[in-house]
Amino acid sequence: MYHLDVRHITKCFEPSLMPAVSDASFYLESGEIFGLVGPSGCGKTTTLRIIAGFEHPDSGDILLDGVSIGGLPPEKRKIGFVFQDYALFPNRSVVGNVMFGLRGVDRRYRKKRGEELLELVGLEREADRMPHELSGGQQQRVALARTLASNPELILLDEPFSNLDAALRETTRRDIRTLLKCADVSAILVTHDQEEALSFCDRVGVMHAGALEQVGRPEEIYLHPETSFVAQFLGRANLLRGTARGSVAETELGTIPIVPDAEGPVLLSLRPEHLGLSPADTNGTNHSGEVVSREFRGHDVTFRIRFGHVDYLAHTEYTGSIPVGTKVSIYPREPAVVLRETGLCRRALPSVAHSARWAQLLQARAN
Ligand code: ADP
Ligand code: MG
Repeated sequence: MYHLDVRHITKCFEPSLMPAVSDASFYLESGEIFGLVGPSGCGKTTTLRIIAGFEHPDSGDILLDGVSIGGLPPEKRKIGFVFQDYALFPNRSVVGNVMFGLRGVDRRYRKKRGEELLELVGLEREADRMPHELSGGQQQRVALARTLASNPELILLDEPFSNLDAALRETTRRDIRTLLKCADVSAILVTHDQEEALSFCDRVGVMHAGALEQVGRPEEIYLHPETSFVAQFLGRANLLRGTARGSVAETELGTIPIVPDAEGPVLLSLRPEHLGLSPADTNGTNHSGEVVSREFRGHDVTFRIRFGHVDYLAHTEYTGSIPVGTKVSIYPREPAVVLRETGLCRRALPSVAHSARWAQLLQARAN
C-alpha cells in the first residue's frame, strides 16, 4: 500500500514577496489521481517540484507510507515527472526514448520491456520512428511510457496536455487517464484548466495565491464550494448577498434556501444551471428582472437577466423561446451555497459599467 502525505509545505523564493506555496497539505491514496488546479502563478509547479525533490521547502514535510522523504535526492524518491513539453530526446527513436527510462536493466530485457510499454500506450508500430514524426498526443504518450519504464510509485504531470490542440487534448486526456488506471499508478496532475481537473481527477485541490483553498471530489467542490474564489474558478457562478436565518436567507431574489445553515450577512453562490425562470409575477412583488441576452447552445440556452444593477446567468434546457426584453422571475432550483469571501477572480459577472460600455459599442455599430 502506497500513500503520499504532503504536510504543511511552505516555500518562499523572495523574503519580500508572498510565499509561492503557503502551508499546503493534502494526501494521495494508492492508485488515486489527484489534481492541483489554479490560475497561473498560484504555486502548482513549485508544489510538484518540492514533491519530486527538485526544490526544498522552507518548512513542512513529505511522507511516503509514513516515512519522510524530505531528505532524499530526486532519483531516490521513485517519483516520475511528465512535463508540458514532453522533453523527448530528438535524436533517439521512440523505443530508444522509452528504453532510456530502463537504464541499468539487462539489455535484452530492456528491449522487450520497452516494446511492452509502447504497446501499453498504443504505439508499438511507431517504435522505430523519431519523435518529430509523431503528433503531439503521441509524443506525450511516449513521454508517459518512458516515465512508466522506471516503475515509479507516483507520477507527477505538469500541464501535460496544454501543448495539444483542443480535439487531441480530449482524446489524449482520456487515453492517459485509462493508462494510469490500468498501470495502477498514483498521479498528481497540475493544470490551470478547471474542466480538465474535474474530468481527469478522482480528487482535486484548488490553489489560490500559494494556498490550497479546498480539497474534495470533483462533484463536491463544484456543487459545494466553500469560498468565493473556488465558486468562481470552477465554473460560472451567480454571487449574491443576503441575510441568513438558519436554512434560508433574505436576498434580492426573495427568501431562498441555503446550505449550510447560517446567521446574519452572507455571500451566496448559485450556479446558472440551478436557476429557473418563470413569467414575471405581476401581483405586486418586485423580484423580477428582464432578459437582456440569450445564448442558444443547441441542447440548452443561457439567459442573462438584469435585476436592478446586477446581471444573473440562468442556464436552462431548451424548452421554448423567451425573447430578449421579457420580464421574468428567477427562482433557485437548488439551495444557494454560503461562501467564505476570499477575493474574486476576474471572471466575475461583468460589472454594470462593463455592460454599459458594451451597450454603447453596440449602439455605435448599429448607427
Ligand atoms: P504555477 O505553476 O501555478 O503557475 P509556480 O509554482 O510556477 O506557479 O510559481 C509560483 C510563484 O513562485 C510565482 O510567483 C513564480 O514567479 C514564483 N517562482 C517560481 N519559481 C521560482 C524561482 N525559481 N525563483 C523565484 N520565484 C519563483
Ligand atoms: Mg506551472
